Amino acid sequence: MKKHLLTEKGNFYKANLHCHTNLSDGLQSPAEVKDFYKSLGYSVVAYTDHDVFIPHNDLTDDNFVALNGFEMEFANRYDCYANKTPWDRVKQCHVCLIAPNPSIENQPFYPKENYVFGNAVQTRKLVKFNPNDATFNFERWYDHNCINYVMQTMRDRGYFITYNHPTWSLEDYNDYTKYKGMHALEIINGSSKMLGNPEYNPNVYDDILRNGNRINVVASDDNHRVGGTLYSDCGRAWTMIKAEKLTYDAIITALLSGDYYASEGPEISELYVEDGVLKVKCSSAQAIKVNYEARKSQIKLIENNAPLTEAEFTLSKDHGYFRVTVVGLDGKKACTSAYYPEDLGL
Ligand SMILES: [Zn+2]
Ligand SMILES: [Zn+2]
Repeated sequence: MKKHLLTEKGNFYKANLHCHTNLSDGLQSPAEVKDFYKSLGYSVVAYTDHDVFIPHNDLTDDNFVALNGFEMEFANRYDCYANKTPWDRVKQCHVCLIAPNPSIENQPFYPKENYVFGNAVQTRKLVKFNPNDATFNFERWYDHNCINYVMQTMRDRGYFITYNHPTWSLEDYNDYTKYKGMHALEIINGSSKMLGNPEYNPNVYDDILRNGNRINVVASDDNHRVGGTLYSDCGRAWTMIKAEKLTYDAIITALLSGDYYASEGPEISELYVEDGVLKVKCSSAQAIKVNYEARKSQIKLIENNAPLTEAEFTLSKDHGYFRVTVVGLDGKKACTSAYYPEDLGL
């Protein structure tokens, strides 16, 4: 029997799940960001300005869903203020929090006193909040207990949570293996990569998984400057979401169900297991590979210059989770989340 790893029903929708506008430190307005991403073939943008949760339901139309969210930063700012640590050495943890439905208006973990980036100093007056919410005027610290409290609380409230750009954040094994509550790691961050950082994080993903924390992967732009220029951070990394239809609810359902993969180029059109054999169909590739929890991998490489568009791998239940990477002809990657043999009846 065929077991589809991405839901069989529905369509793929191209999504940028991490985005900044001129409501925080981006250059363009939310509407300009929408227009630009639509011109690139995107159907979904999650608006995740720093610190300010400002819904953009007016931007949703028949061919576009604006998801409402914000990015929260945890850093030892007081070390910087006290000149104990230079800013460029301070570790940070950034998470995006995407609201489960478009009717949520109030910002949880409202930063009443501190923590505002760029224009958020001015635009925070647009933020609605509930002073009776236990998270009102929340004091945040760069501490895994604090970070986990936020992630767990927001997870309980139905939010979709990503753990962002660990490389840019200078975080290492001792940091990210303590985090519990995120749904997905940003395995590629287009903006950080464009700036020159090695922000392709497959090793971080394996570290987290091998520590027993079953999370998925997304890729996103973290854009601040839309436009087609050399240093634009748009359209560089995205998440392909397979959802029944293009509505806020259906997209959130797909995110919470894990029906998506991360990409900076290649497309994966089919991904299923049948009689213990994994089948991958994709756009033209130079390599298709499977990595396991154990020290085990399988790879199919291009031969005689004939691009690969599919591959089959006989899976073993003895090697723990597996995940797939498609390497395009230009070296760009598409990455699936990890799948576990026991969930597939292997
Ligand atoms: Zn960030
Ligand atoms: Zn960001």
